[in-house]
Amino acid sequence: MNIILFGPPGAGKGTQAKYLVKKLNGYQISTGDILREEIKKDTDIGKKIISNMNDGKFVSDEIVNMLLKNHVFDPIKKEKLIFDGYPRSLSQAKNLDLLLNNSNQKIDYIFFLNVNKETIVERIKKRKILEKRTDDDLETTLKRYDTYVETTRPVLDYYSKNSNFHEIDGAMEIDQITSKIEDFLNV
Ligand code: AMP
Repeated sequence: MNIILFGPPGAGKGTQAKYLVKKLNGYQISTGDILREEIKKDTDIGKKIISNMNDGKFVSDEIVNMLLKNHVFDPIKKEKLIFDGYPRSLSQAKNLDLLLNNSNQKIDYIFFLNVNKETIVERIKKRKILEKRTDDDLETTLKRYDTYVETTRPVLDYYSKNSNFHEIDGAMEIDQITSKIEDFLNV
């Protein structure tokens, strides 16, 4: 089955994705991780990515979609995709539909982890200390949140009418969120 974890930055998508990877033998498709990997490899694309990422801005759809495609079409990962941080815009959501269609797949569950701005700021502060992520400063976080409101939240309208869409209170403890997800998945 394929799953989308959707929500603002700092909602806990990555944490839940990692758990689901273990539980379901799946593959975490984190575009943030994929982009950071590209930066590490110091490729030409990596150099383009770095300035946008550190600014709290989105990396272009062209780059993200190109990097994502290989994962969606990877036969090993087929039907085991756990999306974390993608799609982040309406055009990405439509691109994902197209990629899935072309590889005879669909999304089975969309989990929206709903968290307010104050909770996110607190979490990012903690994550910065734990994970030592250089792109995690408060200013970047606030910019990211604004970008989320402007560009990512409209994706909710695109998905929320679907019967596979489930909203979860992302302010709950990690374990509580996990067990909500498990209830929906019946695992
Ligand atoms: P994340 O690790 O998901 O918090 O992503 C970190 C940063 O990577 C974001 O602030 C964006 O600059 C970039 N990024 C990650 N995923 C995407 C995406 N789907 N579209 C555009 N930019 C992205």
